[in-house]
Amino acid sequence: MFDGYLRTVETSQTLLLNEQSRQLETSGTEVFKFGFGQSPFPPLPAAVEALRAHAAAKDYTPVQGLPELRERVAEFHRAAEGIDVGAEQVLIAPGSKLLLYAVMAAFQRADVLIPAPAWVSYAPQAKLLGHAAIRVATDVERRWRVTPAALEQTLAAKADGAVPSVLVLNHPGNPDGLSYSADELQALAIVLRRHRVLVISDEIYGLLNHAGAHVSLARHYPEATIVTGGLSKWCGAGGWRLGIALLPRSLGDSFKHTLLGIASETYSCAPLPVQRAAIAAYQWNAETQDYLAHQRRLLATLGTWCADELRASGLRIHAPEGGFYLFPDFTPHAAALHRAGITSAQQLCARLLGDTGVALLPGDAFGLPSQQLCARLAYVEFDGAAALQASREIGLQR
Ligand code: PLP
Repeated sequence: MFDGYLRTVETSQTLLLNEQSRQLETSGTEVFKFGFGQSPFPPLPAAVEALRAHAAAKDYTPVQGLPELRERVAEFHRAAEGIDVGAEQVLIAPGSKLLLYAVMAAFQRADVLIPAPAWVSYAPQAKLLGHAAIRVATDVERRWRVTPAALEQTLAAKADGAVPSVLVLNHPGNPDGLSYSADELQALAIVLRRHRVLVISDEIYGLLNHAGAHVSLARHYPEATIVTGGLSKWCGAGGWRLGIALLPRSLGDSFKHTLLGIASETYSCAPLPVQRAAIAAYQWNAETQDYLAHQRRLLATLGTWCADELRASGLRIHAPEGGFYLFPDFTPHAAALHRAGITSAQQLCARLLGDTGVALLPGDAFGLPSQQLCARLAYVEFDGAAALQASREIGLQR
């Protein structure tokens, strides 16, 4: 029914992969699920306890989130990342995905600049809202980083310079597992400032930066950076649906008012018991820091080992810096793959899954051309609770 009137939203590749893997498993094949990006770690115990204690809480909360939670979140990000933020600038929502969508929806018209590769949902969200989704090219040689030159070039090629530009930048990155240094962010900020670009800085893996301290773009471009994050990754609680956004003061009241209007007419608020759990999680105390330190140590050890192994087998790959992804480039094996009839990332992933049970997500899901032979590997196929316990018992160096 209603054919010709419906929007075109392609089925996400993650769901397709899910379905293929399920079919294989039903037929008795063992599937190694490196395709899905869910944290392997259990949520912080203090947060689980708080969730239990407040399970019967049933009220709606203020649209912006509980004042106490916003206070905690602001304090947490000031302490952990040195972001200059107060409680009045914090927005709480059922997942950061909705906050990304709300920020894009705040514009009647915008050009949304999205690096290639970048997380799967940015471009569909922009398109659903009728915005242009413009890709900013990156390459493996430059560590999949957006360079000031590429950004400048993309901005210069815009059809209408008067339409606001919104850049979605994500670090540590999904799918690449790489971060930006302070110098790289500083250099990008010069271009962003010159072109008055609003940035949604998706820093949901920031606290899982395991190669060094996470540097927020908000430290270098504070006037127009909206940082997003939440409990899904660092607190292992994606299904709880708790996202946060930190708004710059300089965006002004009308921007915040628009966002709160969108929130109140769509999701109303994040679930109250989950907000209570988040109050327990967003405490920059010894327990939280220890929980994070062990996760980081495990992710660094595993990620570096996986990257070394893949490099040794001839793939092009960078040592990961944060989160739990690797983005191997199979191009060095292109000739052999072509001879085997594999000329696209999708074919590569389908063959890998069919022949070996290894599930990876093809690079075109992240906006790369399909003939580019890259795929995302999420190294989360392990028992996170047991790994955390072992890490504590053997006292891994942090
Ligand atoms: N941004 C990135 C880069 C992600 O990988 C994910 C989840 O996979 C999200 C945002 C969505 O997070 P949330 O669970 O807060 O909606």
